[in-house]
Amino acid sequence: MTPDSRRKTQDAGRTTPYNADLHIHTLLSPCGEIEMIPPLIVEAAKVAGLDVIAIADHNSCENAAAVMRAAEGSGIRVLPGMEVQSVEGIHLLCLFDEIEQAEALQEAVYGSLISLPGGAYRYSEEQFVVDWEGEFVKYCEKRIALPTSMDIDEVFERVAKIGGIMIPSHIDRQGTGIIDILGMIPETPDINGLEISRNITPDEARVRFPSVGNRPIFQNSDAHWLSAIGERHTILHMAHRNVSEIKLACRGVGGRRVENA
Ligand SMILES: [Zn+2]
Ligand SMILES: [Zn+2]
Repeated sequence: MTPDSRRKTQDAGRTTPYNADLHIHTLLSPCGEIEMIPPLIVEAAKVAGLDVIAIADHNSCENAAAVMRAAEGSGIRVLPGMEVQSVEGIHLLCLFDEIEQAEALQEAVYGSLISLPGGAYRYSEEQFVVDWEGEFVKYCEKRIALPTSMDIDEVFERVAKIGGIMIPSHIDRQGTGIIDILGMIPETPDINGLEISRNITPDEARVRFPSVGNRPIFQNSDAHWLSAIGERHTILHMAHRNVSEIKLACRGVGGRRVENA
């Protein structure tokens, strides 16, 4: 073992607690407020004391690169991602390290967004793509507020193949949470972690939903406006701020862990 590789091995065993809010929408989401532009999101994350955030718009990552750029030099790590809606209607938080990975999923998602009879879709003029300073670039014309035709297994497999992590969003929510839709957390796919909404505590979730089992629970803001950013967060004990470390934290490897704030 060379001195360098030994140092890497030692570093892997040393974890830091990172304040993470891994579910933030921008003004690209039809339900996201107009104030959710990259520089203001980064500023709000800084004020909230966050170390790592993830951008997760509905079925799209077209503003994620702009937030990553806005965060350069801020000390905040931005993970690009999206909140995919499966054909069952389940909201699934899909997170990556690199924008190219998120874009690979986006391509599959865009190719599978369902249509409404007659092509009716009323949101496109509320779906703003902006640059890193928040300046208007274009409207996103994809039907991102509709579900995809991919089922949860397909989303899971695609995300895993690209090297990301899929965490079912707000599992306690009616209508869009996995438990309301499937009745339970299924045995397969092999889900690493689960997210709960702001309306419940991790302890309550484990009691109310026994199928949660021992899976780690994340709590994020699911922010649609600036003041919500960081209102809920999760403390991730990891060696680095990246997706493979989040996966290791979910499995409790080498002292890494997911701690509820
Ligand atoms: Zn959602
Ligand atoms: Zn959301």
